[in-house]
Amino acid sequence: MYQVLARKWRPQVFEDLVGQQTATQTLQNAIASGRIAHAFLFSGPRGIGKTTSARILAKALNCQSAAGPVIRPCNECPSCIEIAASRSMDVLEIDGASNRGIDEVRELRESAKYQPMRDRFRIYVIDEVHMLTTEAFNALLKILEEPPPHVYFIFATTEQRKVPATIISRCQVFDFKRIPDRLLVQRLLQITREEGIEIPEKSLEMIANASEGGLRDALGTLDQMIAFSGTTIEEKDVELILGLVDTEVMIEMGQAIAAGNTAAVLSILDRIAEYGIDYKTFYNEILSFYRNLFLIRFSETSSAEERLKKLASEYDDIHLLRICHQLVSIQNLLRMTGNLRFLFEITLVKLSQMKRLVPLEEIADSLKKNNSLKVPAPAARVPVSAKESIVSTPPQMQGQKGAVPDDFIAGVIDELESQNPRLAAALESARLHQSDSQMDFYVPESYFRMMRLDAKDQLELETLLQRKLGGQVRVQLHRGEPPPEEGAVKVATPETLVGKDPIVQEFVKTFKGKINKIELMKGSRA
Ligand SMILES: [Zn+2]
Repeated sequence: MYQVLARKWRPQVFEDLVGQQTATQTLQNAIASGRIAHAFLFSGPRGIGKTTSARILAKALNCQSAAGPVIRPCNECPSCIEIAASRSMDVLEIDGASNRGIDEVRELRESAKYQPMRDRFRIYVIDEVHMLTTEAFNALLKILEEPPPHVYFIFATTEQRKVPATIISRCQVFDFKRIPDRLLVQRLLQITREEGIEIPEKSLEMIANASEGGLRDALGTLDQMIAFSGTTIEEKDVELILGLVDTEVMIEMGQAIAAGNTAAVLSILDRIAEYGIDYKTFYNEILSFYRNLFLIRFSETSSAEERLKKLASEYDDIHLLRICHQLVSIQNLLRMTGNLRFLFEITLVKLSQMKRLVPLEEIADSLKKNNSLKVPAPAARVPVSAKESIVSTPPQMQGQKGAVPDDFIAGVIDELESQNPRLAAALESARLHQSDSQMDFYVPESYFRMMRLDAKDQLELETLLQRKLGGQVRVQLHRGEPPPEEGAVKVATPETLVGKDPIVQEFVKTFKGKINKIELMKGSRA
């Protein structure tokens, strides 16, 4: 049976870990000197060896080949073997994302009181520890303050800034780095050689590059290649599987879209199509390209290339959000449409023209100024009016099955747009189900991922809604589609409400038109 490479080649001793020498050296020194902290925090991007290191450390602490912890686990004793297979009774691996509550941590505290079953120590490995709730962290802190001598904690996180400082201060922190391409290629060369796989070094460089410093992803891609071409892999196969469009071409495309140069955008698409690209992988590429720009734009610390930073600065926030929104919204069409080329032509033209669309509010404003329309009472402007109505009369959670009015959520999204644009953008595509004291937002999978929603966002939304509704409403952000029986409804966004604005309706009537597209202008909202 074929065993996936990442598993087959999973490092079993510290020396085998690629690109994490600082961390592993320090760990080994600590073990050798007998000064071992009771809690470790392994921090860094996904797929670069944090969990693997946690297992190696657990083996080093519990290995039976010596009377105490060793710097090189034997991988032969029952402890080592069971830890490697994640079935040791004394080394517990916990997924922080699905065990994030206070009850789970209380249970952990209870079990930590007991002596280990067989091994030297009881070791708790908590992955994605940043997902724990505040209460859970507080409970965890209690045991970290005075850990029983037989207990060790190893935490892993991809987002250290979300781990409370009180926790971090009680851990020895290790920063795991993205593995440099050069080292990744070396490792891939070694593995392919020993596996008897023929592949050009240039292709390995492409794989390393596409996996952004993660060995697990790189090996996953290699698995795909082997499934596709067998043991002799050619350069063109790699390009095909990676669906690679030259970065230069993507940047060129990004510039043309930023400049609103539709003709250039279409001619670039022509060029890309000549290579015989797979449109679905191209879709993923353009989505991750814009996701990248989006992240560069919204995160303070970014190690991005200068060229990308410059490009990101050519977009304004709303434009970038709308582009991401537009790209995510065609995801379903990709599966259903036969003519993908046409779909991409339309989409790219839309993206390149987004900036130029005159916002309806602006038209309405200018109409107001010209007095060419009978303007209704002043409070009619949406979404400002939505906001005002929230302040004056908090909507009831009770009454008609506990539903709050459409414009209430639109007002919330409007408010979030400035303080948490990721969350606002995600909510705009969400579906909502409400019951007496619970609001469930279902955010499409791709959007959930792209906007990197997490527990903090959920808490932020809950706090905001509780403040506005003055009650104990519970809020839950779900990933994916709602169960059909729930009858969840599409969230009303500031845009959908613009269509209900009397001025806009008058405008549409006057021109016998139809609203096709609503574009909100940056800073146009109160
Ligand atoms: Zn051992």
